[in-house]
Amino acid sequence: MNSLLAAKLRYYLLSIIALLSHLLAVQAAAGARKGAPLLDVRIYTPGEADRGQLSELGIQFENHATAPFVDALLSGEKLTALRKSGLAVTVLSNAHVNRALPPTCKSFSEVEDDIFALQRRFPDIVHIEQIGSSTTLGVPIWAVKVSDHAAVDENEPTILFQALHHARELIGVHVCLALLEDICEKYGRDRDVTRWVDSIEIWVVPVMNPDGYKYMFETEVRFPWWRKNLRDNDGDGRFDPLVDGVDLNRNYGYNWQEGGDGKPGSWFYRGAHAFSESETRAIQRLALRENFAMGVSYHSYGESVLYPWGNFDRPPDIELIVDIAHNLARRIQRVSGRGTYIILPLDGRVGQSSIWFYGALRTIDFIVEVGTEHIPKPHVIPTILTQQLRGVYYLLERLLQSGVKGVVYDRETGAPLVAEIVIREFRADYVRPRRTDSRYGSFYVVLNPGRYTLEVRSEGYAPRVLRKVRVKENGVVDLTIGLERLSGERNTW
Ligand SMILES: [Zn+2]
Repeated sequence: MNSLLAAKLRYYLLSIIALLSHLLAVQAAAGARKGAPLLDVRIYTPGEADRGQLSELGIQFENHATAPFVDALLSGEKLTALRKSGLAVTVLSNAHVNRALPPTCKSFSEVEDDIFALQRRFPDIVHIEQIGSSTTLGVPIWAVKVSDHAAVDENEPTILFQALHHARELIGVHVCLALLEDICEKYGRDRDVTRWVDSIEIWVVPVMNPDGYKYMFETEVRFPWWRKNLRDNDGDGRFDPLVDGVDLNRNYGYNWQEGGDGKPGSWFYRGAHAFSESETRAIQRLALRENFAMGVSYHSYGESVLYPWGNFDRPPDIELIVDIAHNLARRIQRVSGRGTYIILPLDGRVGQSSIWFYGALRTIDFIVEVGTEHIPKPHVIPTILTQQLRGVYYLLERLLQSGVKGVVYDRETGAPLVAEIVIREFRADYVRPRRTDSRYGSFYVVLNPGRYTLEVRSEGYAPRVLRKVRVKENGVVDLTIGLERLSGERNTW
């Protein structure tokens, strides 16, 4: 072999080696990128203490001093470190979005973006509060309050609209977002909407079950889709749809033990005990504080208004409840355009939200089964929303239409009192009467026109009976009720 040929061979060999090593390097780099992709994440309520740690990870806060969450791009390693620190973090990546869902459906983070954008646009009438965190992922449960001077707790009647006890019942979220946007847009322009916002505290919880909602979106689950939350029933540290999750609309504490199913794998599993889930406790806390006079929980589907309740110890004011349910239902046209929603009684022996709301707080609360399927086709959604808004308007108007309200106070000191307002005509020992709130000592009871006898009771005070209180067709009777401290109770300290 001559030296020229040898040199040529060596040149080709070296070229091949160079090319091969280049290819290997490219592959290795690609592999490295695959192993550590950057994730679009949302970090919730970073407190002062967390900010140092977050800025070490290159997450800046200058423009987010009061933001309830901040979005960032992070490696998987950094995400794990953040999760270990106890902060609630969720991945926003839509790479795993459930492809069975129509694109009109909004993910949980899109719902958050919507409500906070609304607050920025209408800061005077929109106030957002985190009322709790989800059971498994620790994600915030948001409540949006629309009212004049929204950030202040005023002495006004309250109403609650909420959705998504059941993960797959997505249309209720759309209804909540639509009613928020509609009312905010029309405030100051539409006479009725302005009056409602000025005189009512309108609360909206668009996603009470964020864990289930995220599961619907981020996991390739197909019909019949997910219903419950993500409670780890068997405590094995991972989520298994065959054994895990609690049906949040069987977890409320009124006749809880008689409803739902005791088997964890059941789609109607009622939980280990009443209010075992942080989602239902969040609603309970808000309800006890705000003392809602009325409420609606949106579910799907069935084109019906369900009221508390039809069996055994019937609600003492069933006539009023059925009357309002009927008026609500007949305002909501069906998807087909033929006829309106129907009304149906709920079972009182179930730990459903409406049953508890009525039994514990005497809130006139309904379940509205929206539409004809869990996830309506995009082209029918606008019609559904328009019809549901008609129902919302009716309830807001009815709340202000007729009833009795007032303040209960200590005659000697003038201090507001926590008291029970018993309407004697509607007295029953198996449901609690309406109560005053501790801050203003105020109460609000929706009633049909008529004459009523009110009994006002507060511990340590002589009860007072107000006879022949006349509620007219239009107008809410306003009472100021002073109570005398019982003499036996005086100076007991
Ligand atoms: Zn449901």
